[in-house]
Amino acid sequence: MGRGTSAARVSYYLSKDRGFPLFDPSVYMRHICGNGMCINPDHLIPGTKDEN
Ligand SMILES: [Zn+2]
Repeated sequence: MGRGTSAARVSYYLSKDRGFPLFDPSVYMRHICGNGMCINPDHLIPGTKDEN
């Protein structure tokens, strides 16, 4: 997982939460379906390091 802003983050931002901090590296995007390539916003949950 990557550098910069992933398609998943943008997908979540556009579909779910326009307040999501796209460019904040301390906020992670987790895939509940286990597919790192998935960009279905229904499968994405934002989380912080502490929640890991
Ligand atoms: Zn998925």
